[in-house]
Amino acid sequence: MATQVSDRTGCWTADPGFGVYVHIPFCKHRCHYCDFNTYEGQEELHFAYVEALVADIENRDPGNRSATSIFFGGGTPTLLPGPESGRILSAVVHNIGVGPGAEVTIEANPETVDEAKFVALLEAGFNRVSIGVQSLAPEVLARLGRTHSPERALEAVVAARRAGFEEVNADLIYGSPWESTSDWMRSLDGVVAAGPEHISAYALTVEEGTPLHTLVATGRAPGVEPDIQAERHELASEVLGAAGYERYEVSNWSKPGHASRHNVLYWSAGDYLGLGAGAHGHHNGRRYWNERLPREFVTRVSSKCSTESGSELLDAGTRSGEAMMLGLRLASGVQLDEFTLRYGRGWLDTHAGVVAELEAAGLLERSEGWLRLSAGSTLVANDVLCRLL
Ligand code: SF4
Repeated sequence: MATQVSDRTGCWTADPGFGVYVHIPFCKHRCHYCDFNTYEGQEELHFAYVEALVADIENRDPGNRSATSIFFGGGTPTLLPGPESGRILSAVVHNIGVGPGAEVTIEANPETVDEAKFVALLEAGFNRVSIGVQSLAPEVLARLGRTHSPERALEAVVAARRAGFEEVNADLIYGSPWESTSDWMRSLDGVVAAGPEHISAYALTVEEGTPLHTLVATGRAPGVEPDIQAERHELASEVLGAAGYERYEVSNWSKPGHASRHNVLYWSAGDYLGLGAGAHGHHNGRRYWNERLPREFVTRVSSKCSTESGSELLDAGTRSGEAMMLGLRLASGVQLDEFTLRYGRGWLDTHAGVVAELEAAGLLERSEGWLRLSAGSTLVANDVLCRLL
C-alpha cells in the first residue's frame, strides 16, 4: 500500500500515514512528577531489553504499510548508547519498512547527550530530536526532580544543531507551584533564543502515585493553580507567536512547516504500531497495549509469547467520537467532509445540538468546512471537549 507522508503544516488529515512508536522504559533517575512507564536502577537489563525489542520486531509480520513517522520515547531513549538505538531503528527499517521522507524522532534527556552522541544518532538514521529542557529556572528544575541544569539543557539544543539535526524540539513544563512568572519568561526567552523549530509546552499535572502527588496530598507542597497555568499558557502564546512560532495544537508550537508529523498522526487518529514495554498501538479501531514491565517483556519475547497484554475494539460511535476529540485539539480543527467520508455521519448527527450550542457560545467555530475550537476557547479546551463526549 502506498504511504502518504503528510506535510508539516500541522493540519488535521484523514490520511495521516502510519506511525511506529518505540518505548525505552529506563531513566537514570525518576522525576518527582513522572507517571510514565519508566524504571530507574535497571541498568543490568538494558542490553537484554534491546535484544528482546529487536527480536520482537524481527518476529513480526511486516504488514503492508511502511512507516511515515517513527518516535522513540520513554523513559529516556538516549540513555542507551547511540549504536543500540541504531540497532532497534534498523530492525524497524528492515522488518516493518519506512517510507521516503519519514520523520524519525528520538527523545533526549539533556544529561545523556553531547555532540558526539547526536552525531551517532544522525548516522543511525534519526532526523529529529526532542529535548527535555522543561525549565530554565534552577529552583523549578530541582523541585521537579530534574537533575540537569538550565545551562546543560541549552547546551543540548546547541549540540544537536552543531551535530547537524535540522529538526529540534524543546519540551517545556509550566505552572509548577514553585515557578514565578519571571521563571516562565526566562524559560520561554531562553528556549526561543536557542532556536528550535518546535516547542512543546505542557501544564504540570499532579498524577496519583507520584512523589509530587504525595507531597501535595500531605500539604508539604502547594498544588497547581489552574488560573495561573492558564496565564502561563497565554504568555507562551504571546512570546512564541511574537518569535514566529505558530500554535498548531493546544500545547505545541512550531516554525511554519515544522510541525511534528508523528504528533499530527496521533491527533488525526491514525494507525500506529506500539513496540516495547507498555507501548500502546492502534490499528483500524483496535487499540492494544504491551506488557508494562521490562523484565517481563524480555521474558515474553524469549519464551516466544506475544508481548501484547490487552486490547479493545472500539465501536463506530466511540471511534468517531475519539477521532473528533483528538482532531479538535489541532488549531486547524477537523475537515468535516473528510471526517464524514472516514467515519460516517453518526457522530455529527448525534452531536449536532451540542455543537450548535458551543458555536453559539463562541467556543467552537466553523469555516470553509472545518470545525475547530475558537481562539478564545483554547484555554478551556478540555472543558469544551468534555461537553462533546
Ligand atoms: S526523564 Fe521523563 S520519563 Fe524519565 S523520569 Fe523524568 S519525566 Fe519521567
